[in-house]
Amino acid sequence: MSTLVIATKNPGKAREFQEMMALKGIEVKTLADFAPIEITEDGQSFEENALKKAEATVAALNLPVIADDSGLMVDALNGEPGIHSARYAGDHDDFANNQKLLENLAGIPDEKRTAHFYTTIIGLKPNGAKVVANGHVNGHILRKLTGTHGFGYDPLFFVDELGEAMGNLTDEQKNAISHRGRALKELMINFEEWWEA
Ligand code: IMP
Repeated sequence: MSTLVIATKNPGKAREFQEMMALKGIEVKTLADFAPIEITEDGQSFEENALKKAEATVAALNLPVIADDSGLMVDALNGEPGIHSARYAGDHDDFANNQKLLENLAGIPDEKRTAHFYTTIIGLKPNGAKVVANGHVNGHILRKLTGTHGFGYDPLFFVDELGEAMGNLTDEQKNAISHRGRALKELMINFEEWWEA
């Protein structure tokens, strides 16, 4: 059985990929299965950061790798927190990040609270074969934390096309419309070609 490494330690992300790959007879591993790898995410875009993760992981493991990078872009904040989403206020401190977002948007009227989540996924093989896919979902930033599902900025994100807060969606509902779900679907269109390359 051939092996694909997902460059994440996040079990939720790994599970999404595992479900897709199991159908193809591919064994999925994550960074949690290997000794720690030094990855510096100092790129200026989601794509640069996803590529840095993919390149560092391929170099360390000599296996095909899929890496992703995501974040929230708020129009009234010129696209912030963007690539700084995880560490906007504190290191992966979702509560502090959400509070900072609310403070920075205080006084901004509803119609100007537009935002989107964005994801880039990159597949990279030791032979250099590469595939890139992107996904986004549009919404508005709410005025208070809403719902109990999801993580990160989900409690403050209202999904325009569903007319519902992200924090009220089940995993299945979220995956069907999310930035990551959409990027993953786009990736799968070109996956076979990349995997066989
Ligand atoms: P990552 O690149 O997927 O690790 O995402 C970086 C950061 O963006 C996360 O730590 C979250 O703060 C935010 N983020 C990414 N995807 C989501 C999501 O689906 N919901 C809420 N926040 C997200």
